[in-house]
Amino acid sequence: MAEPCIISVAITGSVPRKKDNPALPVTVAEQIESTHAAYEAGAALVHVHVRNDDESSSSDPEKFARLQEGIRAHCRDMIIQFSTGGRGRAMEARGAMLYLKPEMASLATGSVNFPTIVYENPPDFVRGLAVTMRDYGIKPEIEVFDLAMLYNTVDLVAEGLIVAPPHVQFVFGVKHALPARRDILEFEVAKLREMLPGATWTAAGIGRHQLEVNRWALEMGGHCRTGLEDNVRWDKTTLAPGNAALVERVAALCAEYCRPVATAAQARSMLGIPAAA
Ligand code: ZN
Repeated sequence: MAEPCIISVAITGSVPRKKDNPALPVTVAEQIESTHAAYEAGAALVHVHVRNDDESSSSDPEKFARLQEGIRAHCRDMIIQFSTGGRGRAMEARGAMLYLKPEMASLATGSVNFPTIVYENPPDFVRGLAVTMRDYGIKPEIEVFDLAMLYNTVDLVAEGLIVAPPHVQFVFGVKHALPARRDILEFEVAKLREMLPGATWTAAGIGRHQLEVNRWALEMGGHCRTGLEDNVRWDKTTLAPGNAALVERVAALCAEYCRPVATAAQARSMLGIPAAA
């Protein structure tokens, strides 16, 4: 049987809620509700950011705690992944909530240009976050926005800062970072297999690239990410009705590629995360 596909849902992200995008969950209550619907639709993993009351990116550990508690109450064994991403958050605050010990947290292993800013991840900062995650028993999801980040990961694993085998996400379609090209993904996956045997991988396409990158990942044996953080559109003319609908669409694609949708319990086992208590 083909390997089950772990569907991750990135429910919110850090860009401002657009007036024309009412489906984006922003308050903690909206986020819990949206995550629950996505879990019911087949998502095994949720990637979360939290927002301040003015909807800017927040690092408030209290908000992360309430969100974590709500998701655990409604989606018992779903894997929770905190974002340590930038965009409006002070560098020293980006790991401030990791003491809450989510199952996973995102970790970009290098700096890259984003559409209008530099996404800053200096070497010592990356190492500090990696050590914090390792010491709390949090599994990082390595965010590869550019090729050097994959090679940096190999070094961090060799040094013992990241526990092997790692879980890597290849990100495509962010302006000024890697374009959505299948040959790049093929190269990255080949190098990952060669340099980090046993590593698991997923891929994310931003904006109009979301679905095509999902298809490539399904075909090549990887896992899939979807959600309103990456893409608020359903097609060229319509907005997505919500995170659950995007998850349902990927679940339908899984069937097309004969990949079962992983349950949260299966996802935990594939990623080496302990079963839910
Ligand atoms: Zn994110």
